[in-house]
Amino acid sequence: AREAMKETLATSLLARSLGGLFSRHPKLDEDLLDDIETALISADVGVPATTDLLGKLRKRMNAREFADARALLIALRIELLAMLAPVAKPLVIDGTHKPFTILTVGVNGVGKTTTIGKLARRFQEDGHSLMLAAGDTFRAAAVEQLKIWGERNNVVVIAQGQNADAASVAFDAVQAATSRGFDILIADTAGRLHTQAGLMAELGKIRRVIAKVDESAPHEVLMVIDGTTGQNALNQLRAFHQAVTVTGLVVTKLDGTAKGGVVFALAREFAIPIRYIGLGEKPEDLRIFDREAFVDALLP
Ligand code: GDP
Repeated sequence: AREAMKETLATSLLARSLGGLFSRHPKLDEDLLDDIETALISADVGVPATTDLLGKLRKRMNAREFADARALLIALRIELLAMLAPVAKPLVIDGTHKPFTILTVGVNGVGKTTTIGKLARRFQEDGHSLMLAAGDTFRAAAVEQLKIWGERNNVVVIAQGQNADAASVAFDAVQAATSRGFDILIADTAGRLHTQAGLMAELGKIRRVIAKVDESAPHEVLMVIDGTTGQNALNQLRAFHQAVTVTGLVVTKLDGTAKGGVVFALAREFAIPIRYIGLGEKPEDLRIFDREAFVDALLP
């Protein structure tokens, strides 16, 4: 799995720029540090995180702590791992809550529907029974699509008619999943722009309505973020977090030519657990986030 991840991430800008570093600069010098800085900034790691990291490496280099470029690479790896330590917390569904209610949120087109499908399969394979709530009440086609998907994959999908109130769909879904004894409920919501104040407020309402049925729920507010969005991902998360208190992230589309660095920027600014990353469109491409595998895939 690690080899496959390395292969997939190899084309990302961060892996390409970091991967070539030490052949471009075999010597330990200021140029090497400058090149690392450029690689991190251009791959969306962000200025604050990059400045911090470079400051640490420069200080140690000036104190002659590194014998050679290899030693600096080892230090870089340790620093990158440390940046991801606060967010490396996989989602644990241990049966404490039944149903374990997951509210999924995000901007349109980020891969939310695809991710829900992949998660549903993963949970089924793990032996959990689950129900999906078709909360994308803006698009009748989306509800239809989810129903068809559910029939094909043997997953119960609960839905209401077109233009139903999203909060009432969520309310019914939690009640139904509770009375029918499902292990997990994944409640979808319509994609929305983080700048649409009314729609963001609606998410808060959905959350409150879910808590009316089960005061401990939702047990996870999972936000799906497109890894190719760059620094705007931070603005999206800020707005969603304020509206609905996000407890976990899925960062999709890290395959292909994605920059990849946004994972570090998100980790630094929010420290919200990154539960999964998306490395493609196939079900197995949704991976549990493993910081070591991720960092090792980026480094030469
Ligand atoms: P939604 O509007 O957020 O529900 O987005 P969709 O689930 O419909 O996904 C939008 C597009 O992104 C689709 O073409 C998906 O196949 C694609 N997609 C989702 N996740 C990934 C991923 O991890 N990698 C790649 N390359 N494409 C993805």
